[in-house]
Amino acid sequence: MTRSEELFQRAVKRIPGGVNSPVRAYGAIGEAPRFIDHADGCHIYDADGKEYIDYIDSWGPMILGHNFPEIREAVVKACEKGLSFGCATAVEVEMAEFICDHLPHVEMVRMVNSGTEAVMSAVRAARGFTGRNKIIKFAGCYHGHSDALLVSAGSGVMTSGVPDSAGVPAGCTQDTMTAVYNDLDSVRTLLESAPDQVAAVIVEPVAANMGVVLPKEGFLQGLRELCDKFGTVLIFDEVITGFRLAFGGAAEYFGVTPDMVTYGKIIGAGMPVGAYGGRKEIMEMVSPSGPVYQAGTLSGNPVAMAAGLTQLKYLYTHPEVYTGLEKKGEKLYEGMKKIAEKAGLTCHLNHISSLGSIFFTKEEVCDYTSAKTSDTKAFANYFLSMLNRGVHLAPSQFEAMFLSDAHSDEVIQQTLKVFEEVVAKGEIYE
Ligand SMILES: *Cc1c(COP(=O)(O)O)cnc(C)c1O
Repeated sequence: MTRSEELFQRAVKRIPGGVNSPVRAYGAIGEAPRFIDHADGCHIYDADGKEYIDYIDSWGPMILGHNFPEIREAVVKACEKGLSFGCATAVEVEMAEFICDHLPHVEMVRMVNSGTEAVMSAVRAARGFTGRNKIIKFAGCYHGHSDALLVSAGSGVMTSGVPDSAGVPAGCTQDTMTAVYNDLDSVRTLLESAPDQVAAVIVEPVAANMGVVLPKEGFLQGLRELCDKFGTVLIFDEVITGFRLAFGGAAEYFGVTPDMVTYGKIIGAGMPVGAYGGRKEIMEMVSPSGPVYQAGTLSGNPVAMAAGLTQLKYLYTHPEVYTGLEKKGEKLYEGMKKIAEKAGLTCHLNHISSLGSIFFTKEEVCDYTSAKTSDTKAFANYFLSMLNRGVHLAPSQFEAMFLSDAHSDEVIQQTLKVFEEVVAKGEIYE
């Protein structure tokens, strides 16, 4: 038995499913997950001492690679002053100023502890601001695990085969309407069906929790126009895309300005951090300046802020990281596409900058319905074949691959060679 298998046997007895977040389980794969001991750069090492090229990158935060020296040093330095005070600190002001100074669509920001909290709170603020109750989300978009948003939620929810969660009373989701990603008409129809009732439209500007699905030309701009017409708050959930597609996230990348934005993952550099922000008049609704209550004992924690702010400052002052990620993405994903095409492998590869997904289907993947046509058995075969050759991917068809600045050309070439071998041996479709 491997150490990972042994740990998993112990884990399932004391932790539901053996993991603290479902996306870590190898449920769709049928094996024990690899337990991780440490990581450095683009490499990750499991409890059995095996080395892998890592394309999970903690689901995004490790955009500069694992164990990045400047961030580690900032954390150690912050620790020496104390782990938490539960009181206001200078670093929180610096963080808020840095974000607002460099992101034109963020006039005020509130720090929280996770992406889930960020979205839940942003929706509450939008409801408080508009005095309306309904929200529109898109099938296949994941916005964390708060009650109102666990509807057609993609990601881990998708893999477990449970469309919605048990334990969520119908009352909590009765105001959540679901539209079709990339289909503006579906949004217009919902808005017209409930005039003056929709507080917010929330969207992953690039969907990355049903696998990577790109917005069609004009989709995000169309949402902007519809929200303006109906007096609805447009929320971009940039928990994955923020500080990744560009420093200014998808808003900058596509040139569309949301009213509110939510962050997570990269903003904490690996510490538990989320944030929501946007137009001043909306953010001023939040307590203690306004009537929308939202709080957090550890929000703006000084150690977490030190990590996050160091990463954001590095990214802002090194724009070559973003041009580099574009090039790396092109190399890896276009390389995989060529290998697949040459071999006549049935698949579609969606990618943008550092994010990519291979879907084992002959259909173009542009929404939740088409994403679900993927052959998840083929994915499981692909995943295990890659893993056994030292490439660590998300253990689900419906997640993204994350490239970091630490993935060198050499490592990308190595990955392509592994993929070529897996395809050549016919291991994906048995
Ligand atoms: C990961 C994710 C969340 C939830 O963030 P947590 O920190 O896991 O709570 C919300 N929205 C999107 C788009 C995400 O990818």
